[in-house]
Amino acid sequence: MTQTDKFREALTKVQAALAAWRDGEPIVVDGTTLTLEEVKYCVVDTALESEEWAGKVARYVKEGGSRCLNCGEHDIEGDSVEIDAGAATQGVRCNVCGHYWVDEYTLTSVKDIEDSDGNPILTEKDDR
Ligand SMILES: [Zn+2]
Repeated sequence: MTQTDKFREALTKVQAALAAWRDGEPIVVDGTTLTLEEVKYCVVDTALESEEWAGKVARYVKEGGSRCLNCGEHDIEGDSVEIDAGAATQGVRCNVCGHYWVDEYTLTSVKDIEDSDGNPILTEKDDR
């Protein structure tokens, strides 16, 4: 589950517990009864964690995916690249902390190429 998913899940649980609390029930999240103060800290902590993770992702992308998304070490290794229409993905693992994630690539441009006479390059085609 991603950090964003974790945050959304925690929020959903808290919202449900708070709805019950408004009806006069105790605030119960995952079987634990919480005070309103504890709920505030939970939500703030989870939000900060989610924000910290978003910062790591932004740094990783900015640096072209050259260091571990989690620990920042350079000893990372990519799986083979899977290409789909207009997009590609590559699983990457860190050999230091063991974190595994998937890089996502998007087709952004095309480089048109010509031969030395300025003509388009033609490949063999099927005569069907
Ligand atoms: Zn790492």
